[in-house]
Amino acid sequence: MFVTHLESAIDGTRFDAGRVLTMHNGRPLWVRYDLAAVKKAVRPADFALRVNSLWRYRELLPLPKDIEPVTLGEGMSPILPCPRLGKELGLSRLFIKDEGQLPTGSFKSRGMAAAVSMAKHLGLTRLAVPTAGNAGGALAAYGARAGMEVFVFMPEDTPVINQLEAFLCGARVFLVNGLINDCGKIVREGIDKLGWFDMSTLKEPYRLEGKKTMGLEIAEQLGWRLPDVIFYPTGGGTGLIGMWKAFAEMTELGWLGSGEPSSVRSRLPKLVSCQSDGCAPIVRAFEKGERFAELFANAHTVASGLRVPAAVGDFMMLDAIRASGGWAIAGQEKSIVPWMRRAASLEGIAICPETAVCFDVLERLVREGRVGRDEEIIVFNTGAAQKYPEAVKLDLPRLDKNRAIDYDAIARRP
Ligand SMILES: *Cc1c(COP(=O)(O)O)cnc(C)c1O
Repeated sequence: MFVTHLESAIDGTRFDAGRVLTMHNGRPLWVRYDLAAVKKAVRPADFALRVNSLWRYRELLPLPKDIEPVTLGEGMSPILPCPRLGKELGLSRLFIKDEGQLPTGSFKSRGMAAAVSMAKHLGLTRLAVPTAGNAGGALAAYGARAGMEVFVFMPEDTPVINQLEAFLCGARVFLVNGLINDCGKIVREGIDKLGWFDMSTLKEPYRLEGKKTMGLEIAEQLGWRLPDVIFYPTGGGTGLIGMWKAFAEMTELGWLGSGEPSSVRSRLPKLVSCQSDGCAPIVRAFEKGERFAELFANAHTVASGLRVPAAVGDFMMLDAIRASGGWAIAGQEKSIVPWMRRAASLEGIAICPETAVCFDVLERLVREGRVGRDEEIIVFNTGAAQKYPEAVKLDLPRLDKNRAIDYDAIARRP
């Protein structure tokens, strides 16, 4: 095992690995590795021969090597070229990394695979999570896979698929008349009474490590280099923070741009953190030049994964975005459904509402000349559109099998 210790992200306090840890002073912990030892143990080329999942990056994950992970085969999602969509936007190198193909249909499975594996290894048996939707489904699935007890708390208007998947996986699911932070309070207060472990985003240290593998995976898939710009829909922030951590670790390992001039080697992608104008606490803080975000009042968006009015990792997100030379920008709520259909119609990729927000932001940045037409751009599709039946109002024409079919009318349908 290459983990040396854990470290408070707010003040650097060190903690021993190998025991149950949560936060320090209400703020998250980083997992730290002996990167010099990792560098001796594995070379980038070695990964190609390994299992086709995030567990191929075992030296940079917290689970000891001799412990079996709790797995559903997560990771190694494809990076799909999007020539037609790119052409419409005036971009020559546009790609979608399709995390909708992961178990439970979202990138949340990466975090939960790592966190549930660690929870099991550390002897925990009863897990609880407040969720905007996908995290609850993913925890329920991995909890079932591990034979553990799971409690899920979600806003009462969470997409029904998330309610269904958590229920079917045997979790005890509760609907709360509030948002994810209200659910978080219920979980926090239940810790003493029911003895469960809080699996909230960034309140335990290992979901971040699982999501970090998105960054490792892009590098490997692109031949150990990184794109120019990454668009990521931002809620609690683990996706963004995790990727930036992966880039930092790979830089220190000397794995990026091996053999190329140092200018190529040292250049990391701009991170564009995308939120909806219905819930944009990180965008507000970014614009004001603040390191911490204020609670976003009256948060509303059909992009349920972005309905996070306050995040304990706000400063980690803002630090990463600024260090990358990127931006935090709000897309328009009203453009979500049009973008879902436009992207899927042009490329066949069923993008979630969260990712639709990224496309609205991307279109704006191209128009404003902040993204160049020949830059290499990866937009993360963090989940599958099929998980959001409520987001799109369908009004499909009906045909009567007992009447003559009007084929001209069929041909005219848009
Ligand atoms: C959770 C979620 C997000 C936000 O991810 P964070 O890592 O919490 O910022 C984006 N999209 C989807 C589909 C999600 O489920």
